[in-house]
Amino acid sequence: MGLVPKNLPKTCDGCGATFTVEHALTCKTGGLVVMRHDDCRDEFGDIASKATTPSRVTTEPLIHYGGNEPVTRQANGASNTSNNNNSSTRGGEERGDLAIHGFVQRSKTAILDFVITDTDAPSYGHQPSKKVLEKAAKRKKDKYLEACRERRRDFIPMAYSVDGLAGKEARAAEKRLASLLASKWDRPYTF
Ligand SMILES: [Zn+2]
Repeated sequence: MGLVPKNLPKTCDGCGATFTVEHALTCKTGGLVVMRHDDCRDEFGDIASKATTPSRVTTEPLIHYGGNEPVTRQANGASNTSNNNNSSTRGGEERGDLAIHGFVQRSKTAILDFVITDTDAPSYGHQPSKKVLEKAAKRKKDKYLEACRERRRDFIPMAYSVDGLAGKEARAAEKRLASLLASKWDRPYTF
């Protein structure tokens, strides 16, 4: 609405620039961008631990667990699928945000990775927010989906806009969470 919030600090405590709402949403040194990401992760993880059990929810799971060993074996030369250049199956230090065991399927772990995007940032031009979120989710999937599948895990990109719009996969995960919680608490739940 073009209004300026009251009591806004004059300068950013991270980088010293003039502090505006736009700056708060994009400055990577002030800590706010990290905070909004971590808050989302913690909230979802907390509810997930109630919907399942606390021991089923862990934070910062390794995407490529198993060190530097390639996971796909060349047994009889037949085990590798197409376009496998091993980059997605070798170990690395990348981590997801949450691992929830049995979230989508029984006995299978889902890795969730959050990305919170300022969909109104000038760099996105006039793209619709949905499109921006779709692209953010796709970037995550391009990076991690194959590696998670190689380890028999689901991967869910949790893309949100700063004002709370959820991407397709994030919305589906919210519904899944709500349904798990409803059945655990024996409450009605309508989609
Ligand atoms: Zn700043």
